[in-house]
Amino acid sequence: MKTPNFDARMNFPEMERVRAEIREFLAADPAMATPRADCWSHFDDAFSRRLGQAGYIGMTWPKRYGGHERSSLERYVVVEELLAAGAPAAAHWIADRQTGPQLLRFGTEEQRQRILPAIARGECYCSIGMSEPDSGSDLASVRTRATRTGDGWVINGRKIWTTYAHRSHYILMLCRTSEDASARHRGLSQILVPLDSPGLSIRPIVNMAGAHDFNEVLFEDVHVPADALLGQEGAGWDQVMSELAFERSGPERFLSSFVLLEAFVERARREPSAEAAILIGSLISRLAPLRGMSMSIAAQLGRGELPNFEAALVKETGSLLEQDLTEKILGEIAPEADPTSEDKFRRLLAEAMLHAPSFSIRGGTREILRGIIARDLGLR
Ligand SMILES: Cc1cc2nc3c(=O)[nH]c(=O)nc-3n(C[C@H](O)[C@H](O)[C@H](O)COP(=O)(O)OP(=O)(O)OC[C@H]3O[C@@H](n4cnc5c(N)ncnc54)[C@H](O)[C@@H]3O)c2cc1C
Repeated sequence: MKTPNFDARMNFPEMERVRAEIREFLAADPAMATPRADCWSHFDDAFSRRLGQAGYIGMTWPKRYGGHERSSLERYVVVEELLAAGAPAAAHWIADRQTGPQLLRFGTEEQRQRILPAIARGECYCSIGMSEPDSGSDLASVRTRATRTGDGWVINGRKIWTTYAHRSHYILMLCRTSEDASARHRGLSQILVPLDSPGLSIRPIVNMAGAHDFNEVLFEDVHVPADALLGQEGAGWDQVMSELAFERSGPERFLSSFVLLEAFVERARREPSAEAAILIGSLISRLAPLRGMSMSIAAQLGRGELPNFEAALVKETGSLLEQDLTEKILGEIAPEADPTSEDKFRRLLAEAMLHAPSFSIRGGTREILRGIIARDLGLR
């Protein structure tokens, strides 16, 4: 089954050319032998390197930083195809989606030259260092502290739920750089720390699917040079807010388990039923507007705008759709999930079932996103 074309704007000839090229690339790639539900949480560095070599990472970035100067919609098509195919895209995902754009926006020329080309080659991976044991939703309460020394910063504290810190090269962390209690937000800065720094240790956390993808990261007198600071000292809060629009608005918020829907459609072809037809129709009719909205946000981000409210809407409605997809297939139609099954549908269903609860937690919880939406609608 082909990815449905929901939106006429995607029929521009150049978009279709990119779509045909990335499909050809994926069809020939050995990693695609096993498509994955929630594929952007599956790490395969060899795959990411091949993708980078083919020019599909850092697509919109300037060529002088290893990018390819393609449009944000061309990048959108590639991301969409990776998700629709169930490609194991975790290794480069965060660096391509948000660390790279943060470096372009706030980084020094030296930081950009040093890091962006390696990200674009698919060789350098990054982690998000926001959450702490007592600061998840209330991010402004982070306590990890960076203190100025003669030649840089010394960092102490603890981050948690840090996805793939154990396999990445840098963590872009939000930390407190001012003791001034009245400057809750203005006392925060972003610092880019190499994950092999002395004093930094990484403890695994195993998720309920039995996989080790996130971690606790401890900082005990970790020294980094002054130029590890990203952007302005004290501007960390505003910088992180700009990162969140990239994090929340992409098609991974509603297509991460598209392979399950596709496998379900294949199964319904073999074993048609009215229930299956109604479920497929209702899911696709929810996908279509989400896709249109997410594409519009990609264009806004490409123009340098910060559509945080719109991104929160995509993230919340996308997570709801993906959780419904799994629950409804599982509960009403086909209670046959089995992670060890040879049958693709049954395996994908089990995979999606184990990952789906996290969809409304990672990247901001349901309650927090609904709060943002309500506030922007003037309802609170
Ligand atoms: C798969 C996965 C990957 C992740 N990867 C990363 C990562 O790479 N880097 C990173 O920094 N973090 C990561 N996280 C962490 C994630 O961002 C946090 O779990 C999330 O922000 C919630 O924070 P918390 O766990 O501290 O929960 P809390 O903030 O303690 O929230 C607990 C509950 O209280 C509710 N709540 C909290 N405040 C309010 C409020 N004001 N109003 C109403 N309800 C409220 C929440 O909605 C939630 O239901 C990841 C999480 C998951 C599940």
